[in-house]
Amino acid sequence: MKIIFLGAPGAGKGTQAEIVAGRLGIPTVSTGAMIRSALRSGTELGKKAQAFMEAGALVPDDVVIGIIKERLAEKDCQNGFILDGFPRTVAQAEALDAMGVAIDRAVSIEVPDRAIMERMTGRRVCPSCSASYHVTFHPTADGIHCDKCGAELTMRADDKPDVVLSRLEVYHSTTEPIKAFYEGKGTLICVDGVGTVEEISARTLSALGVC
Ligand code: AMP
Repeated sequence: MKIIFLGAPGAGKGTQAEIVAGRLGIPTVSTGAMIRSALRSGTELGKKAQAFMEAGALVPDDVVIGIIKERLAEKDCQNGFILDGFPRTVAQAEALDAMGVAIDRAVSIEVPDRAIMERMTGRRVCPSCSASYHVTFHPTADGIHCDKCGAELTMRADDKPDVVLSRLEVYHSTTEPIKAFYEGKGTLICVDGVGTVEEISARTLSALGVC
């Protein structure tokens, strides 16, 4: 299965992608996580991406398309994968097509902007393994450390309210049109993304026909 998760920043794509990937035994590929890791390691890619990311803007297409091309060529992606945060522009979706990657399902997690703003202020991430949590909706066992690797959780700089607003604008103007691209291919599934993590994952798994 080759699956894409679409949705506004904070819609819960990453969390749902992890759950579905665990059920299907395929890797999750997150461009955001890869860019953050490059930024922490101070690589050339990290330096190129930093200013865009901190402003809530998209990193240029050629940069992310290059990253994804390399990652999808790795061995663990040969039996399928879930893309979280890619494609984010119609040009990126077309680039996937041009690479010969046939997407089976594009899942759009639908959440109103007001709920997104509430969610972002409570989001916490693991700087070590990139797991994502929420202080109210998806807390860790002790509320401080990652359940998976034990590292202390942090808040992303781009989860600040003014940056979230810019990211929502970018989502509506640039990323949302991708839905029509996949609708035209008959692969789009829209899932109501309001509710608990468990409710949304039940809807997502059922929409994907995974029981
Ligand atoms: P995310 O973790 O998916 O919310 O991504 C965080 C930030 O990384 C975004 O706001 C962009 O600056 C950058 N980014 C991640 N994926 C992409 C992409 N496919 N295209 C352009 N920029 C991206």
